[in-house]
Amino acid sequence: MRIDILTLFPEMFEPVLSASILGRAREGGFAGYYVHNIRDWADNKHDKVDDRPFGGGPGMVMMCQPLYDAVIAVEAMDSTPAQRIVLSPQGEILRQQTVEQLAARPRLLLIAGHYEGIDERVIDELDPLELSVGDYVLSGGELPAMVLTDAVVRLLKGVLGHEQSAAQDSFAPQGPSGQRLLDCPHYTRPRVWKGRSVPDVLLSGDHQAVDAWRAAMMLDRTRQRRPDLLEERH
Ligand code: SAM
Repeated sequence: MRIDILTLFPEMFEPVLSASILGRAREGGFAGYYVHNIRDWADNKHDKVDDRPFGGGPGMVMMCQPLYDAVIAVEAMDSTPAQRIVLSPQGEILRQQTVEQLAARPRLLLIAGHYEGIDERVIDELDPLELSVGDYVLSGGELPAMVLTDAVVRLLKGVLGHEQSAAQDSFAPQGPSGQRLLDCPHYTRPRVWKGRSVPDVLLSGDHQAVDAWRAAMMLDRTRQRRPDLLEERH
């Protein structure tokens, strides 16, 4: 998969894209990340990318021209069609279902806003998918772009060491009728820590009993913490 990221702060990305699973995915050839500075496409003397809002008010607004030209130029760098995505607190809240759909696309083009946001006309013209990482406001779309990249890339076949591990995570469809459940609790050594013991069944060596315990815990946790997941239609 090819992931292009358009931002005014490209320096924020490399430490994240080169570490852990994202770094391994790139080294293994499963994903390629291309970070572009929108400012490189500014066609004015001072490489200006933002301006004061019409109508007054605080902050600056990202101008149409540099961003639009950047998107068109970056898309032309590769013939693979890209799904355009703008990270926005006003977008659809990102959920695992959407992450799975995006992981099946060959190419994503992520646009990180900054300041007060992006001139609405360029969003109308580009007609992207708008995605939010939650009901709170961040200073820029860079962290949301990294969140989305991580969530998508870990689902690409071959990226995670153990083929099953993404399928056993929270929000993967694995309830009795395909519901998306929370993961079960996990434990490692020592067997007793600060007087707290690991559940006996996990030490029993009985794999069927362990599987049954885990399935029951997943349902219990989901019922307690996220009953809304059990009510969803499948
Ligand atoms: N004035 C905008 C509003 O209230 O909707 C907020 C702009 S925010 C300070 C600047 C940029 O950060 C946005 O253009 C977007 O790219 C990004 N951003 C902030 N919060 C986000 C969120 N929850 N999800 C995705 N992107 C977000």
